[in-house]
Amino acid sequence: RMSAGDDGMGSTKHIEFDLKGTCIEYHTADNLAICPENDPEMVKQAASFLGLNLDEWFHMEYDRYELGPIFPTPCTVRTALSCYISLNLVPSRSTLAKLANFATMQEHRERLKYLASKEGKDEYHSRIVDRKHDLVDIFEMFPSIHKPELGSFFEILPKLQPRYYTISSSSVKHPNRIHVTASIVNEKKPGLPEGRIFRGACTTFLDRLTPREGAINGKRPKDERGVPAVWPHAYVFVRKSTFKLPQDISTPIILIGPGTGISPMRAFIQERESQDPEKRGDAILFFGCRRETEDFIYREELLEAVNTGVLTKLHTAFSRQQATKVYVQQLLKREASTVWSYVAEKRAHIYVCGGTQMGKDTQHALEEIVQEYGNLNKSEAHDYVENLTKTKRYIQELWSA
Ligand SMILES: Cc1cc2nc3c(=O)[nH]c(=O)nc-3n(C[C@H](O)[C@H](O)[C@H](O)COP(=O)(O)OP(=O)(O)OC[C@H]3O[C@@H](n4cnc5c(N)ncnc54)[C@H](O)[C@@H]3O)c2cc1C
Repeated sequence: RMSAGDDGMGSTKHIEFDLKGTCIEYHTADNLAICPENDPEMVKQAASFLGLNLDEWFHMEYDRYELGPIFPTPCTVRTALSCYISLNLVPSRSTLAKLANFATMQEHRERLKYLASKEGKDEYHSRIVDRKHDLVDIFEMFPSIHKPELGSFFEILPKLQPRYYTISSSSVKHPNRIHVTASIVNEKKPGLPEGRIFRGACTTFLDRLTPREGAINGKRPKDERGVPAVWPHAYVFVRKSTFKLPQDISTPIILIGPGTGISPMRAFIQERESQDPEKRGDAILFFGCRRETEDFIYREELLEAVNTGVLTKLHTAFSRQQATKVYVQQLLKREASTVWSYVAEKRAHIYVCGGTQMGKDTQHALEEIVQEYGNLNKSEAHDYVENLTKTKRYIQELWSA
């Protein structure tokens, strides 16, 4: 399921991973770590600039590394560049320093060493960071890094890291499926040359994992020999999260999750479907996105949750739907007296998920509510919210956008 912006940028995608046949188990709102694969075009470009054959096999001398294998070899150059090396991000100064040893032209060696040095720090920022040059650009800019000795070359390159996603399904409702709600990173970034788009490694990988064409009723298409095609797949693992519903199901919950911050809130809502409606406490959701018709990806199921009483109240903010932008933290302020009575009298638990800035703004809005309705001064209101955090009644899962 997909929703896209009118410029085709910044779409949100709902992805389901089938766990059948794996030993993976999860709990509602845990994190899923996804090991991405780089864009095949980028992999081809990197190999071409380096003068490498993608199908060449190589081996690393593991006993040279104190920390054990860096990634499993023997493998092909294609596998190393696709699965193990971070190609799309700006390389660090220390990577440039190590790359200098592989440049055969003295001019390139000196330039790379200078950019990596203390004296070259400003130039590294203006020429490399501000212009968002990735590792593939560096290979193009320094063509004398050519046909390097593979084992030691791959050892020094930055490694592709797994990306974490807050699982957006309940393990009670979907024990064999993990749902992820991802905002696809493809941005026209300031500093990038005209027409060039920055593509996030993991989210564009997820974007490529579309169900195979030709699948009929969820069954895999077969080739001419009758062999079923392989489903798109990914290497993943589960990490525990601090997001847990209150043990006492009668405790009310306030959920604040704009954009893909909706993930754990959706999982909680699914979990509540299995709770006794007579016993479960209220659940109030604050959700925000750009436009109701654009990226309100779970519109129908959230409205259904309100209809069935699983969700007590849904407050929505559509930031680009009117002349002045409206965000969830403003909705929170608008509902200040209700929020205060839930927090102070009904001892509600508050969950916040999404971007770091939204998290800061939301905490600030909550402190203002506490200050006004609790008749406290600024620092007392701050301590009040700090205490909510300490007692695990104010739980945040935030990431830098
Ligand atoms: C606990 C946790 C839970 C999360 N849950 C979710 C979730 O539920 N849904 C979700 O969508 N995300 C979630 N995230 C964020 C997610 O992990 C990824 O960070 C995000 O999807 C981007 O990954 P990517 O590989 O696509 O982008 P990356 O390749 O990692 O790039 C990310 C950013 O780097 C910047 N950047 C770096 N280099 C360049 C360059 N050369 N040019 C231009 N820009 C550059 C850009 O600003 C870009 O947006 C979560 C993060 C954490 C820590």
